[in-house]
Amino acid sequence: MNKPAPTTSPWARVRRSKIHGRGVIARRDIPSGTRIIEYVGERITKAESERRDEARAARAASGGDGCVYFFELNKRHDLDGHMSWNTARLINHSCDPNCESEKPRGRIWITAKRDIAAGEELTFDYGFDVENWREHPCRCGSPKCVGYIVAKSHRWRLRKRLAKDRRASKVKKP
Ligand SMILES: [Zn+2]
Repeated sequence: MNKPAPTTSPWARVRRSKIHGRGVIARRDIPSGTRIIEYVGERITKAESERRDEARAARAASGGDGCVYFFELNKRHDLDGHMSWNTARLINHSCDPNCESEKPRGRIWITAKRDIAAGEELTFDYGFDVENWREHPCRCGSPKCVGYIVAKSHRWRLRKRLAKDRRASKVKKP
């Protein structure tokens, strides 16, 4: 099977990232609300998603690629974006992102959350829960960075755990 060509956008292109690896950078000013690029992949059931996530965790544990590209589409289906032609998978997470995901009619778009200037790197909130937070350090560089890739709605839990760890490490030191 021939692989589809990587997705492209008139608004953004792939460049070396200041955050991690390759990223997606605005090629011109992008007004707030613009649909920048579709997040494409394979539509899979939750059961298949769980199976793939376990395989991914096993790979990560043995030092392989532990990247997570699952997106919740609805209660029954997820989208697996772990495909080379899904250019949007290269968009990095930020604790203070300039993009967000929109899900019109079973598709996923990465949309500008605010006006974005040409040359800015695009970011969105990966929406991870706190379960495997240590596996996903964040280097987004934002003043709001919590140090790990965790969804905004779960960050209070992470802050609690980090505070607890800090207290524990203080007790241990003489
Ligand atoms: Zn961060």
